[in-house]
Amino acid sequence: MSTGKRDYYQVLGVSRDAGAEDIKRSYRQCALKYHPDRNRDDPEAEEKFKEAAEAYEVLSDPQKRQRYDQFGHAGLSGAGMHDFTHMGFEDIFSMFTDIFGGGGGRSRRRGADFQIEIGLTLAEVATGVERTLEFERLDYCETCSGSGAAPGSERRGCSTCGGYGQVEQQAGGFGALFGRMVTTCPTCQGQGTLIVTPCKRCKGRGLYPRGRVINVKIPAGIHHGQAIRVRGEGEPGAQGGPRGDVHCYVSIQQHPFFERHNNDLVCRMPISFTQAALGAKVEVPTLDGRAELTIPQGTQSGKVFRLARLGLPDLRTGRRGDELVQVNVEVPTRVSKEQEELLRRLAETEDASVLPESGGFFEKLKTYFTGNGDPTR
Ligand SMILES: [Zn+2]
Ligand SMILES: [Zn+2]
Repeated sequence: MSTGKRDYYQVLGVSRDAGAEDIKRSYRQCALKYHPDRNRDDPEAEEKFKEAAEAYEVLSDPQKRQRYDQFGHAGLSGAGMHDFTHMGFEDIFSMFTDIFGGGGGRSRRRGADFQIEIGLTLAEVATGVERTLEFERLDYCETCSGSGAAPGSERRGCSTCGGYGQVEQQAGGFGALFGRMVTTCPTCQGQGTLIVTPCKRCKGRGLYPRGRVINVKIPAGIHHGQAIRVRGEGEPGAQGGPRGDVHCYVSIQQHPFFERHNNDLVCRMPISFTQAALGAKVEVPTLDGRAELTIPQGTQSGKVFRLARLGLPDLRTGRRGDELVQVNVEVPTRVSKEQEELLRRLAETEDASVLPESGGFFEKLKTYFTGNGDPTR
């Protein structure tokens, strides 16, 4: 069966009986050759980089390698493979820290992420929105080009590590099992050199705050507390490492009428006692404007009316939820003389004919208090 994929051994340029160390070494070479920083905007290099990561994932895992040797690419379906084609470089790097982290003298750590809060109205949640964000973040210092050394000044070799950027430490205790351990030089942080005269502007950090403006697209249907990640807009990493990300946290403002229940909007609306009793046509607010709602005769307080597809769109499917209007029947607190008279006359008619529903209720209540019969019946 042809999957259009190249042979993994061929991808890494190793023989079929290559040992784990050979495979690791070959992969590191491939990854550095097709590294995104060296091949900016080169889709072919990106493809090769991901192809190598996939090959390494299989060949570095004895079980996956055995399945591949026996059945080829088909043997790996259901083997728990990562989908490298849809992964970012940073995620791929972080998967194989034993290869990229600390192995090559200089450490290239990713810069810090940071958070921004984006306030949205429910109307904006309904449509989705594009926001322009202005913020200040650390950037490479322009005066020293990010080196941290004053322009024209020289750097001197680090005497702690002799310029290697790494030091060997005699490990004690548990670490003694491993004898000597190689770590990043604490004096120069792996750079091998030290600044003699620090840059005045950034005080030797190599970084300086600078304003930045970015556009962020917020999809319709997003929820309170969810974040949009904007890759590579965070702070720069140490020693030229990649930038961190910006996480835009969504904060949804309270709406005067609507309460959000997942993709539905709940609106509590007061109606008068007479509207409930006699029925009425009322206007209800919706996110799209107004809608007319028919209150049928004899509506009880708390009754919920569903206005289909007037809620919020689902973040994934785009399918709109409903608007739920819950009516609250209000009893008049102050009545005019005339109204009182009318209400008293109404009460008299009620004495004559007890409503079936309330009659049932009071009967049940009576048996409940006297303990006769089953009150649940
Ligand atoms: Zn500077
Ligand atoms: Zn050093």
